[in-house]
Amino acid sequence: MSQPILRLALPSPLRRLFDYRAPTDCDPALLQPGVRLRVPFGRRELVGVLVERVAHSEVPEERLRAASALLDRRPLLPAALFELCLWTASYYQHSLGDTFSWALPNLLRQGESAERSEERIWQAAAGARLDDPRVARAPRQRQALATLAQHPHGINQNLLEQFQLSRDSLKLLHDKGLVEVIRRRPSLPEHHGAWLLQPELTLNDEQRGAFEAVRAGFGRFHPCLLAGVTGSGKTEVYLQLIRETLEAGKQALVLIPEINLGPQTLERFARRFNARIALLHSGLTDRERLEAWQAAREGHAQIVIGTRSALFTPLQSPGLIIVDEEHDASYKQQEGLRYHARDLAVMRARLERVPLLLGSATPSLESLHNAEQGRYALLRLEQRAGGARQPRFERLDVRSRPLDSGFSPPLQRLIGETLAAGQQVLVFLNRRGFAPTLLCHDCGWMALCPRCDARLTLHQRSGELRCHHCDHRQRPPAACPQCQHVDLRPVGVGTERSEERLRILFPDYPILRMDRDSTARKGSLEQLFATVQSGAPCILLGTQMLAKGHHFPRVTLVAILDADGGLFSADFRASERMAQLIVQVAGRAGRAEAPGRVIIQTHLADHPLLVQLTEQGYFAFAAQALSERRAAGLPPFAHLALLRADAHQGEQAEAFLDGAATLAERLLEQSEHPEVQVLGPVPAPMERRAGRHRAQLLLQASSRAALHRLLSPWLVQLESLPGNRQVRWSLDVDPIDL
Ligand code: ADP
Ligand code: ZN
Ligand code: ZN
Repeated sequence: MSQPILRLALPSPLRRLFDYRAPTDCDPALLQPGVRLRVPFGRRELVGVLVERVAHSEVPEERLRAASALLDRRPLLPAALFELCLWTASYYQHSLGDTFSWALPNLLRQGESAERSEERIWQAAAGARLDDPRVARAPRQRQALATLAQHPHGINQNLLEQFQLSRDSLKLLHDKGLVEVIRRRPSLPEHHGAWLLQPELTLNDEQRGAFEAVRAGFGRFHPCLLAGVTGSGKTEVYLQLIRETLEAGKQALVLIPEINLGPQTLERFARRFNARIALLHSGLTDRERLEAWQAAREGHAQIVIGTRSALFTPLQSPGLIIVDEEHDASYKQQEGLRYHARDLAVMRARLERVPLLLGSATPSLESLHNAEQGRYALLRLEQRAGGARQPRFERLDVRSRPLDSGFSPPLQRLIGETLAAGQQVLVFLNRRGFAPTLLCHDCGWMALCPRCDARLTLHQRSGELRCHHCDHRQRPPAACPQCQHVDLRPVGVGTERSEERLRILFPDYPILRMDRDSTARKGSLEQLFATVQSGAPCILLGTQMLAKGHHFPRVTLVAILDADGGLFSADFRASERMAQLIVQVAGRAGRAEAPGRVIIQTHLADHPLLVQLTEQGYFAFAAQALSERRAAGLPPFAHLALLRADAHQGEQAEAFLDGAATLAERLLEQSEHPEVQVLGPVPAPMERRAGRHRAQLLLQASSRAALHRLLSPWLVQLESLPGNRQVRWSLDVDPIDL
């Protein structure tokens, strides 16, 4: 009988599979899809994943090489997750082998065993008796035997010391046949006691409604969007649903945005549950990551919490998937496999047949649209739990008002009054550094990055000009390099400059700055929080780091220094992001007796989206923004794929994309449903970045199916397009940055 041919996904950017013969002396029954094999590849060896077994290969028999070793005795991933990987590769038009590389822990990619190693267990031999004459005069051995006899399942290697068992005694007992050593895989620890370590809060009516709605979907695919204002108690709903999941003997997977991965988040889960929690994030060592992965896969960890890539963690018995802050951009991976973890969570929940809970105070327009279409159950929490009230929004028109380091006179007055009343102020400015531009007042020269089409930001504290795109750094020139005059002035405002100004305006109060520069030092955040928690009047100043996850109940005034960027930008998602940021920042503030005011400085005080947002709230804004998207034929009413290319020379990238556009047009001409538009190529929004010239080509389609029908044949052609080698290119399906 001829051996089957193994079709493998190998870690390679090529969108194809590779055929091998089975390793010699390998039980064919073990060659199941999902096992890893080590294979020769050129002069190297690679670790691949078996995708299918086929009867025939295109590769001639004599050139077909044999895999060198089978690495797993069972598939690495449960069937649903394996399926998800196949789906992911196909949806994002990515090499399957590379998709597995992103989905699996590093050590597994390198061929390490996926199984936790066997442990040695010491047991009393059957029929061994304590009054055995051979131990009559050996009290230590007798004692050891007695201890073992009390543990019918044996005692494992790690616990010998705890039971005061000496290896010597055990060895002597073993030689006498009174004790035996067995090897076995670590077993599922039995769960003792209740799942809860602390009592649950009593859900309010809204929370109960949401809880019941999700619970009704246990055991099947049931996607829900939990749209709850900040502080409405979404997390409490998650916690109680997780408890239900644990009681049903199942596991819960919780995705959180990168920025929320503080100890506070974990603590909240750890304090609540008597359960093993596996935490997966980018800070783990390879070994820790593998161990967490194994604990999840074998069901030892009942709760799995992690950022984006934790979506690919195998679960022994999945019961519930939660995506917290589902609108957060960190769920989208921006390099390599450009997947969106929230979107994949939907597919995973479908394949695993479990309920999915997407939670946010400011849901993405995509998810709101899905809810409107009836694809997700929409669950709303409109009241703050614990009695706090929603803050009030006000637009402060700063046209023709002098701005003093970003602060208008009325805002300065308000800040002063708030501090004088013994309350705290939060100032939000999404720009770090001192000033975004250094300008020569005589000739108009500006400090530009030598490698990017971008201005250099002045960081006064460190005495540097820095590029926020490529991290180029240089000393600011003493005189203008163009006209030699010395009148170089910082233009515009960053957090450093606002901080400096606030110190002069309000010298009697602490000014706490929170951005990537100020919090780089370890412990600086903790110190900052301690001051805020103390409740004394102070000013908190920061970038979007301030907007997420924290709650500052003593803050009663929130000032947003500049909302206009989101309304001017060429990126159609900018206004959505701005609205989410404003609402999230505002949500940090307020409590029952002092609900808080939110002042938004703007030059566009009559902008309809801003008016909607501030007068009627996020959902009214979203409705308006969605209708604009519909009219403009933009997502979620259209589907996009962006082909990006960069090269040393601008012409190379454009020539490649021109060729790509022609190929796409040709494929569309042959197609029966040419509902795809090819737009471009055009230079990227920042044409030069880190010394490379960048351009892009956009495909826009009214139907997702039509887009994907085009993409797969197109990508095959792109791989052999002339000029392919001079450019770096990548396809981004459902891009979020255009
Ligand atoms: P969200 O996740 O929506 O921002 P949280 O779950 O963090 O909201 O809840 C906000 C605050 O309200 C927390 O301090 C929480 O302990 C409290 N809280 C939540 N649910 C209740 C409830 N049912 N009763 C009393 N307090 C609650
Ligand atoms: Zn000059
Ligand atoms: Zn740069």
